[in-house]
Amino acid sequence: MLIPAEYRLINGNRLDAVPACLYRARANSHARQLARADWLIRERDSGNFIATMQGSRVHFMNRSPAPQQWLDAVSELLASADSGFAYLPLSGLNPLLDELGIDAEIYGRQTGLPAVAEPVQLEYAGRDCFRRPLWLAYDAAKAWGRMQTAAAADDVRLQAISGYRSVHYQMGIFRRKSARGIPLHDILAVNAAPGFSEHHSGRAIDIGTPGEPAAMESFEDTVAFAWLQRHAATYGFRMSYPRGNAHGISYEPWHWFWIGGDQS
Ligand SMILES: [Zn+2]
Repeated sequence: MLIPAEYRLINGNRLDAVPACLYRARANSHARQLARADWLIRERDSGNFIATMQGSRVHFMNRSPAPQQWLDAVSELLASADSGFAYLPLSGLNPLLDELGIDAEIYGRQTGLPAVAEPVQLEYAGRDCFRRPLWLAYDAAKAWGRMQTAAAADDVRLQAISGYRSVHYQMGIFRRKSARGIPLHDILAVNAAPGFSEHHSGRAIDIGTPGEPAAMESFEDTVAFAWLQRHAATYGFRMSYPRGNAHGISYEPWHWFWIGGDQS
């Protein structure tokens, strides 16, 4: 079992690894394997559980012998963790955008949004308001912790609704909406294209407060929002999408981005 200081989300191109103790098995037959493991290895595209690792030993879940492509992907993931590279290459985006029929250059020009690289490693920052593990970039996680503590000292409770989200997670939103017949144009009006969401960086947090619906404009009327407006900059956070922002993204008072320059 890992100790909390070792908790990370580690990204490879096709797979990621997360602490096994933070996730529940989806099938009973996997529960024991997961309970004994240090790491859970998932397919990024589907979220399917592929294997566990105990020490340096890899145990595949359903597939024995494991197909060669999974062995290769696991090797690639382990190499990614040790590579010293801070970010995954942006070239991984191309097949996803091609599938959706989005031209990255045109999209970037129209929205003024840059492509956002995903960190290879993300830090565990506790759980979000849905009890899911919250993953953030290292410095953003530290700043978020300090800001939450400072707010609590002022009797204001800040909760994370969502932190890091992968390119594949964003892709899943597009695939599901497309399958329901929603035109691409309409999806892009409310969701950033995969690869262009600030959440991929691990530096964006959707912030809420108890008793308020998540990610609704009414958040702007809360004490928590007033506190953020006054103090968030001290911790290096700014609101990305104020009313009438140049990206044409609808007003999101809950979405804050860590730009650094934490003065706390
Ligand atoms: Zn957001």
